[in-house]
Amino acid sequence: MSFFDGIPVAPPIEVFHKNKLYLDEQAPVKVNLTIGAYRTNDGKPWVLPVVHDAEVQLANDATLNHEYLPVLGHEGFRAAATALVLGENSPAISEGRAFGVQCLSGTGALRAGAEFLHHVLGLSVVYVSKPTWGNHKLVFTRGGFTSVRDYTFWDAENRCVAIEKLIADLEEAPEKAVIILHGCAHNPTGMDPTKEQWKKIAEVVKRKNLFTFFDIAYQGFASGDPDADAWAVRYFVEQGLEMVVSQSFAKNFGLYNERVGNLTVVVNDKSVIAGFQSQMSLVIRANWSNPPAHGARVVHLVLSDPKRRNEWMESIKAMSDRIKTMRAALREKLEALGTPGSWNHITQQIGMFSFTGLNEDQVNHLISKHKVFLLSDGRINICGLNTNNIEYVAQAIDETVR
Ligand code: PMP
Repeated sequence: MSFFDGIPVAPPIEVFHKNKLYLDEQAPVKVNLTIGAYRTNDGKPWVLPVVHDAEVQLANDATLNHEYLPVLGHEGFRAAATALVLGENSPAISEGRAFGVQCLSGTGALRAGAEFLHHVLGLSVVYVSKPTWGNHKLVFTRGGFTSVRDYTFWDAENRCVAIEKLIADLEEAPEKAVIILHGCAHNPTGMDPTKEQWKKIAEVVKRKNLFTFFDIAYQGFASGDPDADAWAVRYFVEQGLEMVVSQSFAKNFGLYNERVGNLTVVVNDKSVIAGFQSQMSLVIRANWSNPPAHGARVVHLVLSDPKRRNEWMESIKAMSDRIKTMRAALREKLEALGTPGSWNHITQQIGMFSFTGLNEDQVNHLISKHKVFLLSDGRINICGLNTNNIEYVAQAIDETVR
């Protein structure tokens, strides 16, 4: 007899499971389009040169130590992260209506945000886009939300944002429902609302008194321009909407395992910030007590020094340009092969992922016959493509859909 008898075995987390299947695969030719991490044209992980440079400086800085950071994190990092998403000249910042809290990457920011909204504000209903990133529902359920619902996002037939249905679903949402919006580079579809569509979304969120939760995990990585990628967040702020914004520095700094994230709150009246701060301290205290310093120090060093910041901008541009080149190449090759179906969505989508439109049978065939690994919903990580394997992948897709 054990307390642990009869624990049901939970299904594997698909993205990690598929990544492992790829790693274990013995075939000489195989392609990994699963996990969302950047790869160079040689298929290698990339430490951004400016990140390496900042790490060298930190390693040589004898004044630093490994004392605890404050519960709410590294002050310089929090301010830099908040300014990155809201804009250097954001009135919300100058008026003291914005406040950042360092969290454990984007996931930790989502979790801390969820717990705050549930335990402190008493909110229990959350809407996520259909489809959405595989972790949103779990984070909010474990964060205390008792009703996790979907709003329509994707028009599979036309491979675009289903804006009419999206708005209709938000119209039906109860007052004070939390609406999770992907700030840019929607995961998994790679398709963002246009500015006109964002305006419609903001209008209904405001009129129906819904609560905005932006999740921005790809700022700068999507278009190469961090300001352009934060347009939607800043537009909502301009409209006077209160919100929380979870930020991840995994992709745009390549700091995946350092778990560098931030949760920014924007409120209408700065007098509530003291309460927010104190309650958020308890949320963090009960989770990780205080965050790790290394990644936050790196991001702070880079963002607060104009020269380093420029180097970072060059690196995010290089990453997003390589992704755009691979998108164009994949589309071109499929079109040249006369692969049945239309492939223009591959270049219309942005960010790391493409929602190919391949169905589950086709995905399974790609894996078993061609050893091209991707998620069962047809999502591919474009970063897994390079000039050495793109022809092979295009041929494999072509053979599969015929
Ligand atoms: N939100 C979305 C939409 C994501 O795609 C990701 C990364 N896959 C995250 C949040 C957070 O990731 P991390 O915790 O690694 O920052």
